[in-house]
Amino acid sequence: MAGNFENHFLDDEIFGIVSAVAREKGMRAFVIGGFVRDCFLGRECKDIDIVVEGSGIELATAVGARVHSRVNVFRNFGTAMLRFRGMEIEFVGARRESYDRNSRKPVVEDGTLQEDQLRRDFTINAMAFSLQTEDFGSLVDPFGGIQDLAAGIIRTPLEPCRTYSDDPLRMLRAIRFATKLSTPELRFTIVPESLKAMGEMKDRMLILSRERIVEELNKILVTPKPSMAFQLLDETGLLEYVLPQLAALKGTETMEGKGHKENFSHTLEVLDNVAAAEIAAIAEGKLNDYDFEDGVETVKVRKSPNLWLRWAALLHDIGKPRSKKFDPQQGWTFHGHEHIGARMVPKIFQEMKMPLNEKMKYVQKLVGLHLRPIALVTEEVTDSAVRRLLFDAGNDIDDLMLLCDADITSKNPNKVARLHNNFVLVRQKLVEVEAKDEIRNFKNPITGEHVMEVYGIPPCREIGIIKDYVKDSILDGVIGNNFEEADALMRRKAEEIGLVPVK
Ligand code: ATP
Ligand code: MG
Repeated sequence: MAGNFENHFLDDEIFGIVSAVAREKGMRAFVIGGFVRDCFLGRECKDIDIVVEGSGIELATAVGARVHSRVNVFRNFGTAMLRFRGMEIEFVGARRESYDRNSRKPVVEDGTLQEDQLRRDFTINAMAFSLQTEDFGSLVDPFGGIQDLAAGIIRTPLEPCRTYSDDPLRMLRAIRFATKLSTPELRFTIVPESLKAMGEMKDRMLILSRERIVEELNKILVTPKPSMAFQLLDETGLLEYVLPQLAALKGTETMEGKGHKENFSHTLEVLDNVAAAEIAAIAEGKLNDYDFEDGVETVKVRKSPNLWLRWAALLHDIGKPRSKKFDPQQGWTFHGHEHIGARMVPKIFQEMKMPLNEKMKYVQKLVGLHLRPIALVTEEVTDSAVRRLLFDAGNDIDDLMLLCDADITSKNPNKVARLHNNFVLVRQKLVEVEAKDEIRNFKNPITGEHVMEVYGIPPCREIGIIKDYVKDSILDGVIGNNFEEADALMRRKAEEIGLVPVK
């Protein structure tokens, strides 16, 4: 098979080097998987997988020596990885696999390229480019991956039930690839036999670790239109295994002729809105990420999606089922769902084995505050309400505003337009108040140490009372955000509660 391709897929020097080293070692090597797929899709791919008939570690070590690059060897997996000019190149020996029903861990033996391709998850992920000198760059595509790619089809090389039963993670991967590869021009679909097999094999999800599930979910969430994946998870019945709290948002109820919003589809709409708005804001360089390094705040312009903002969108209404009530006058209400939701966040993170650190706190904060900006739209926008919002949201105010704006969904386009317009006013007000009062990084001008020093008292309740009084007065605009006014107010309040200054 002579592969005279009129393309430049393997122009990078590294492919020539791997080819030459493999030849010297008498091994056959191929580029396989995601890199090949992404070449044909015209997508950038910096991860290169090389499959070798022979030892992947041996070839990697030899290539590493040639390019003076350190090789990371993973003996347990029989793989090795090296970095070269911004690319990550992973080497693995071609394998033949068989599975034990009770685990994801297959019995692995050395095999040929053909056998290795058979164990790959999808036809579009099983394509390989030869690195042999005689047919360098020719495509080895035993299952018609190239046709499936052109038609936007996700299909397993082997019988789908067997494929998914062997490794149920592949069900989530199918959904992820369908979602990630879809574009406005070409929507990827999972073939019906495969979808049916997922429904039948859904119990196999139970053998997967939470970490693996979350890894897929995270990759799904940062795609430009993640709703598609959640619809597929729902249709196949996998959602219950992935995130049952989300499945609980499904459905509507009618009482006395009154219905309510379908909260699952609403959530998905908000998630897509957030993704679109964030992508647009990133393109305009409008979003910042704040971090603390050695106690100093650093600000960086956001360049890629914030996964945790997507989680916040996904979970923003998660408290609705538990807060739902029917009131004959008002109809259905979900009072306090934002607080119930915020309380559910740590539990969900814990169940999913996700980090319980400041990322979780950020999600929790956004869920808990997600109604606040819109309340400003419908009520009067006072400086003091804006200051309180800025104080509570801190540096996350822009993400909160983005989420809240994305949360405006309705079947009535006039209503949506009106709310979005009013939202612009709230944004303006936020900018004005922030410029004037600098609340975003509010630090109480009155510290506990200062109170203790002035009144010669040990740590006690009164200090908290005074500090809160000063803080509230600043946020309510009674005094300015500066030390002089704050100190004067502290002295008045302290006198009122019977404290006498020692100096
Ligand atoms: P991307 O990295 O862009 O998400 P990818 O196709 O490179 O996509 P990886 O998870 O990096 O995906 O896996 C590399 C290749 O390994 C895949 O293209 C596929 O051929 C194979 N593969 C990965 N996971 C599995 C699996 N669970 N079952 C079968 N084959 C798999
Ligand atoms: Mg990859």
